Amino acid sequence: MKKIVFITGTRADFSKIKSLMLKVEKANDFELFIFATGMHMSKNFGLTVREIEKCGFKNIFKFINHDKYFQMDKALSATIDGFSRFIHELEPDLIVVHGDRIEPLAACMVGSLNNILVAHIEGGEISGTIDDSIRHAISKLAHIHLVNDQIAKKRLIQMGEAENSIFIIGSPDLEILAHNEISLELAKSYYDISYENYALVMFHPVTTELHSLKEQSDNLIDALKESGRNYLIIYPNNDIGFEFILQSYERVRGHNHFKIFPSLRFEYFITLLKNADFIIGNSSCILKEALYLNTPGILVGSRQNGRMGQESVKCVEAKTESILKAIDTLQKPNKKNEKLEILNSSKLFFKHLQNGDFFKIKQQKIFKDLR
Ligand code: UDP
Repeated sequence: MKKIVFITGTRADFSKIKSLMLKVEKANDFELFIFATGMHMSKNFGLTVREIEKCGFKNIFKFINHDKYFQMDKALSATIDGFSRFIHELEPDLIVVHGDRIEPLAACMVGSLNNILVAHIEGGEISGTIDDSIRHAISKLAHIHLVNDQIAKKRLIQMGEAENSIFIIGSPDLEILAHNEISLELAKSYYDISYENYALVMFHPVTTELHSLKEQSDNLIDALKESGRNYLIIYPNNDIGFEFILQSYERVRGHNHFKIFPSLRFEYFITLLKNADFIIGNSSCILKEALYLNTPGILVGSRQNGRMGQESVKCVEAKTESILKAIDTLQKPNKKNEKLEILNSSKLFFKHLQNGDFFKIKQQKIFKDLR
């Protein structure tokens, strides 16, 4: 039986790989192991490891990679250390990582340094902040690439990756959107939300703009307050600078028009997003889930620069006046974003696992020059 390890460090990657994990968990030929770390293990960020446990997975290995100050470089080194011990004990056949955070980077480094196959999901995307560099670094270390579309595939080829190591499986979280069954009534009562109309707020640190981050998040809050609407604010991730954003949120804690949550359960989040008047901030879901669900989006600042779909949302600088104007003039999009193609990602992923396609890829990578 082949042992497959998934590493997850946040609600954001867990929601994207959950359906793939479930496939592996149910299969007879494979044994699933989950290395849960990062924000999942922090009570300040909602201790979301509980969401993983609620799914009924058998082998969850919990590892705390942060100290009081959540320094990204120190968390990276702690994860390398912890994950290295874990895989030397387990000796897995495949490590699966997702996205652009330090936890997948750590796991990818450990896997490649120990000649254990690493598959990376959603490489070849482009965004702003340090995420972009981390994502591309993971791609250069990973042996197998499970990408969203042809555009991502082309970028990886441009980065010297071999074409036969790249498999298009689509974006796994979009697949879940199509089958979400949580009603709005249930989501609202679960989180004690009494607003008839509301918007979602998700604003993360831009690690390369720390000097202006507090000002940006204060401007955002000023605009939201002035708009007079109701908002559900979701905490930022734990990237460097997150405290500045939390300080701005403290200004509206307990305010009639604001409710603040560390994190919402994925399916509940999706229902609340679908029924929101709009979503504002710099989360990737403004350009993915929100577009698919036809929820208007306002993208604030530079964090998603370069990511596809910007033409379908409002993009504004993190200035109070611009944000307020965007809120006041927002209109519902006419139709769903045609470019977001939904593939049966978990099925495609599992097909490659079963065929053994992934296991034929060599650990020795060869840089492919463009002709
Ligand atoms: N998400 C969730 N609950 C939340 C907030 C986010 O399940 O309370 C999921 C959702 O799928 C969303 C994803 O996490 O698309 C990414 O959100 P986030 O803004 O945290 O991260 P980003 O992808 O922008 O780094």
